[in-house]
Amino acid sequence: MTPEELKAQLLGEAEAAIDKLLAKRRPANKITLREISQLAIESGQDMQRAVLHTLVQVSQSVEQAPMTCPSCGRAMSAKGKRRRQVVSESGETPVEREYYYCRQCKVGHFPPR
Ligand SMILES: [Zn+2]
Repeated sequence: MTPEELKAQLLGEAEAAIDKLLAKRRPANKITLREISQLAIESGQDMQRAVLHTLVQVSQSVEQAPMTCPSCGRAMSAKGKRRRQVVSESGETPVEREYYYCRQCKVGHFPPR
């Protein structure tokens, strides 16, 4: 994905968050400061989720360099992708990563990123 494509995708996510915010917003002469504050929090969280999901997807779509075993330094075999739910400071997202196995050490590893 090019930086322009990434920007377009994030702008799309931002637009969806703004549309959702505008749909929920009460008329300007009726809305309270508390409601405005809640909308600001919710739209911030929507953007946070969008950035997390989009950047995780992009980082998973690039080819990984061949992985060497951190213990013995030999080339490891790719054993297919494993999916798991990752909890980060900015929320939860599914992450799918290649899983590697070292026949020498008989241990499995995920790449460091
Ligand atoms: Zn090893």
